[in-house]
Amino acid sequence: MRQTLFESLIHGPLTEAAPAPDEAALVELAESVKRAARAKLGRSLSIRQVDAGSCNGCELEIHALNNAFYDLERFGLHFVASPRHADVLLVTGPVTRNMREALLRTYNATPDPKWVVAVGACAADCGVFAGSYAVAGGVKDIIPVDLHIRGCPPTPTELLKGLLALLHQANDVAGRRA
Ligand code: SF4
Repeated sequence: MRQTLFESLIHGPLTEAAPAPDEAALVELAESVKRAARAKLGRSLSIRQVDAGSCNGCELEIHALNNAFYDLERFGLHFVASPRHADVLLVTGPVTRNMREALLRTYNATPDPKWVVAVGACAADCGVFAGSYAVAGGVKDIIPVDLHIRGCPPTPTELLKGLLALLHQANDVAGRRA
């Protein structure tokens, strides 16, 4: 115990270093998403994440958006607990047979206008799980998809770029559905 206390005094903190210098680029990107959300919706963007059968790698990157490095809440991007409060469904993974019905119900429970973003290679075309007996298909095979963000997994920055692209094309999507 005494040795542990002594070592904690002579060693520096083991926490991670401060955010990298590309913080400015990230802030700029997140601010752009915030402005685009306000222009399209008149308020901040609410996101519901749906794991339709992923390996959880994509979830780790999505969760990172809320960690101390990215802290998306400061830009008005909220992850919500219910699809009834969501503007965007972020769907990960190939859609497994077990999750097919749940995904359909989540989609139907989300009020219009709504957008679906398929996150990761698996959400696009089942990725490494293609051909599995447990997989019903990619997200677009089950519900309409407005945007694919590819990668295995996509980084938080790629997720932000995808959300920005989605908001920029939102008028087109709304027009097509009207
Ligand atoms: S895209 Fe990659 S990280 Fe995401 S669910 Fe598939 S295998 Fe996992």
